[in-house]
Amino acid sequence: MMIILLTFIFKIYYLFFGFECADLGIRVMEDKLLEINWEDLKRAAVEAAAGSYSKYSGFVVGAAVLAKNGQIYTGTNVENAAYGVGLCAECGAISDMVKDGQALQLVAAIAILLKRDGEVVVITPCGRCRQLLFEHGGAGALVWSPKFEKPLDMDYWLPEGFGSDSLKLLAV
Ligand SMILES: [Zn+2]
Repeated sequence: MMIILLTFIFKIYYLFFGFECADLGIRVMEDKLLEINWEDLKRAAVEAAAGSYSKYSGFVVGAAVLAKNGQIYTGTNVENAAYGVGLCAECGAISDMVKDGQALQLVAAIAILLKRDGEVVVITPCGRCRQLLFEHGGAGALVWSPKFEKPLDMDYWLPEGFGSDSLKLLAV
């Protein structure tokens, strides 16, 4: 009887709120199941890295993000003779997503380094990009962790992140 009751409660919760399960790489949003194919995301990031403009560092990076519409958007790093104004691959991927009307719709992200010998290594987003990802995906967005070899949510990458809710502190 208890099991039936718990199952019923779970189904009601699932129907109205959905749930997240980072361990399975599956994120359920609203009433729609969205499977995240991390291999597809990684492949897209590798393809994006082919366009990298990184002649100063040789650090060839590609990033891919998944939006709630199910589309994958990509970017690559763009360096500059004035080193400090270089753009990370995640910047390009977010821009690609936003220009498609998907601002604030980030579900998942991955970034890779394409080494000279062709080896692909998953890397972590820099601090600035963590803020960028947090803006568009909130605390629940998932980013693949090379250290833990699984996706972790933005609550891990940017604990107590500063977001649009923080600006509400100004309201009286
Ligand atoms: Zn970055």
